[in-house]
Amino acid sequence: LDNDFSPSLIIQKSYWGSVTSAAPGTPQSSKGDVVKQLAALGGGDGSIVSQLLSNPFFTAGFGLAGLGAALRYGSRGAQQIGALVRRRMLVDLEITRHDKSYDWVLNWMTAQYQTGMAASQTNTMERVIRRLMPGLHHLQIETSTLKSASGTEKTAFSLVPGHGKHILRYRNAFIAVHRERVDRNFDAMGKPFETVRLTTLYSNRHIFEDIVQEAHELAVQSTEGKTVVFTSQNMTWQASGQPKRRRPFDSVVLEEGLAESVLSDVHEFLDARTWYLDRGIPYRRGYLLHGPPGTGKTSFVQALAGELDFNIAMLSLSQRGLTDDLLNHLLLNVPPRTIVLLEDADAAFSNRRQTEADGYSGANVTYSGLLNALDGVASAEERVVFMTTNHIDRLDDALIRPGRVDMTVHLNNASEWQMEKLWDRFYAEQDVSGEGKRRFLDRATGAGLPGNVSTAALQGLFLHNKTDVEGAIGMVDQLRTAAAKP
Ligand code: ADP
Repeated sequence: LDNDFSPSLIIQKSYWGSVTSAAPGTPQSSKGDVVKQLAALGGGDGSIVSQLLSNPFFTAGFGLAGLGAALRYGSRGAQQIGALVRRRMLVDLEITRHDKSYDWVLNWMTAQYQTGMAASQTNTMERVIRRLMPGLHHLQIETSTLKSASGTEKTAFSLVPGHGKHILRYRNAFIAVHRERVDRNFDAMGKPFETVRLTTLYSNRHIFEDIVQEAHELAVQSTEGKTVVFTSQNMTWQASGQPKRRRPFDSVVLEEGLAESVLSDVHEFLDARTWYLDRGIPYRRGYLLHGPPGTGKTSFVQALAGELDFNIAMLSLSQRGLTDDLLNHLLLNVPPRTIVLLEDADAAFSNRRQTEADGYSGANVTYSGLLNALDGVASAEERVVFMTTNHIDRLDDALIRPGRVDMTVHLNNASEWQMEKLWDRFYAEQDVSGEGKRRFLDRATGAGLPGNVSTAALQGLFLHNKTDVEGAIGMVDQLRTAAAKP
């Protein structure tokens, strides 16, 4: 150690020692006293004070402490100024996940970014800004699967802005977007609590209305001409996958005039809202479609929904885990303009037999649960409920009662008339004269096929021979083999 330093270090120690020992007895000992003491301890250039001040460790310590304090006060001041600026100059729009507009706005942001990307191909300035700004570089994938009644699964993906901060440019305003999780909990649907906050200059505040409006229009557009299929997920109806293109009404070929008579019955019901409400009758109508598998029961409801511009809420009563309470809850909370499709209606009745036979009551819908749920459906909005079954003989008469089932429709295996219509749908162009159709129908009737093969099997044969009239005629015998199977 350098000799110059050692005395001051010792003094420093002894000085602090003296102050601490004096402190308990002299509470009035103030900063001024300390300075006085320091002054008394020395005088002139060789004094303790000047030695202290000339000590680089001592001054550096004060410097650092001062700097720390300045920074602390400085940053607090900056925060306060920041808060003031935010309050005065910025405006926030917060949307929580549980609001309908949440998904619309996220999708709007992705669309906005994509159009921005397209625009930036031509605009250099825009490209530079996007390079510098943290735009949508962090995306999140949302996957949804749709399980059809036949067991096939379809998956759809959509990209939305991920958690964190993004900057977007909309019209001439920059918008800071912050999507964040609010806490670590999940709601009943298994989705985390989160919000998205859009911030922009106060002077641009009116754009929020436009953004939400645009986001809504975008959401409507994406479902226009499409059918949304809701399935039950975590106790509620959830849109399953992306909306599907509407199924054309005439793409499902039922027995002559049958589809049209059901359609006109539904129309009549939809037009009679005030009639029902005036009489205090629950505004609902039930339909039962029955017949062998593959005769178009599910497809018909889809086509009907497309024709009426309705969505579908689809549920299989044989689905495990579907309890009476859940069914009741779901039927009471159907989204607007949505047809309810309850498949495998007989499942509730076979459960009853099973329950009675072995005393076992699983997590499945029971017969009385189904009846209660149907009777409980009461809404100011129309409720159209379709039930399907392959086994009408297993249903109880109690189900087929006005208010539960108002119209029963039998969809049978393909008749000759249906075979002809389906043929036309596939081969109208290849078989203009209809000569191929005659040969096909002759062979089919000769083999006793009408009434014995499902429309699904027939469609399968036509699909296999898409443009091949001769191929289709040649395969008639295979249909006979299929029909022979039980
Ligand atoms: P179901 O519900 O009666 O078992 P689906 O509606 O699931 O039958 O039909 C299965 C497949 O067969 C679908 O691809 C459907 O397009 C086709 N299909 C069945 N019946 C018809 C029909 N009558 N007209 C047109 N296609 C049909």
